[in-house]
Amino acid sequence: MVSENNFRNIAIIAHVDHGKTTLVDALLKQSGIFRENQQVAERILDSNDLERERGITILAKNTSVRYGDIKINIVDTPGHSDFGGEVERVLKMVDGVLLLVDAFESTMPQTRFVLRKAMQLNLKPIVVINKVDREGARVSEVVDEVLDLFIDLDAGDEELDFPIIYTSAKYGTATTDPGLPGQNMQPLFEAIIRHIPAPAGEPDEPLQLLVNNTEYDSFVGRMGLGCIKRGKISAGQQVAVIDHDGNLRQGRIVSLYIFEGLERTAVTEAACGEIVAFSGLEDIRIGETVACRVQPEQLEPITVDEPTLQMTFMVN
Ligand code: GDP
Repeated sequence: MVSENNFRNIAIIAHVDHGKTTLVDALLKQSGIFRENQQVAERILDSNDLERERGITILAKNTSVRYGDIKINIVDTPGHSDFGGEVERVLKMVDGVLLLVDAFESTMPQTRFVLRKAMQLNLKPIVVINKVDREGARVSEVVDEVLDLFIDLDAGDEELDFPIIYTSAKYGTATTDPGLPGQNMQPLFEAIIRHIPAPAGEPDEPLQLLVNNTEYDSFVGRMGLGCIKRGKISAGQQVAVIDHDGNLRQGRIVSLYIFEGLERTAVTEAACGEIVAFSGLEDIRIGETVACRVQPEQLEPITVDEPTLQMTFMVN
């Protein structure tokens, strides 16, 4: 049974060229090969892994990797404040962030805005110092500079206690100890599972999903994208859509997708905590809520005591 504990939803905050694409690529290549807490001393690449050696050049909006039974959804965040509204929307889908910093270049002003947003949303940060293999890498100085950035952003004691993982995304290695070279990405997978909370969903309640993004697909038309905060969702399900003003309209989910690796995969049902895309609601807009359809007799009169509506007012 898939429960919200089987998910971790994260975003990566990084300045351009600090290695976000390479890092996701390394996680994809090692996706599904470890069990939780399992010690892997050395690994021999099998043919399956070799197929993954091609590498990605453009980061998909949504990617997922697996660690043991846990699926880690990685949503892409624009790197700077030019996309202010979009940053906020994307960050509302996740429970934690990787702050990825180049071990030579250090923190950049553009990532400050995104980190501040993440802190305002109480997202758990993991600091990832990347390119530790790079000549001239000044790891401990950069750690101090990251600490200064957090202090500058008024981080509290708990936030200043962020975990640090040192990576060479290029070589697919991570370590918790800068003095000891990493062997694979397992320490980063472990840190994500340990430090980033599972989505706080309510699986037994009626469906509720906040639409954080929309997309157009030439086959299925307009699609909504978001994280399931309550209940579950099915392809073919009749739903109610609640707009920004609390107005309700009816609709039906036609196709439903989750993200597996770099692919969008059609599914019949998705569980609480999962990030999904769906078609069928042609007029869906960002910020609207998709909820379990209420019976016609419940529609008259609409009062704020109706649980679905009450929640909607809270999230908007
Ligand atoms: P993005 O813009 O943040 O997605 O950055 P990319 O992943 O495209 O990486 C930018 C450049 O840094 C590329 O030339 C990568 O090969 C290089 N790079 C990424 N990670 C590492 C690393 O761990 N070590 C070194 N030496 N180079 C890296």
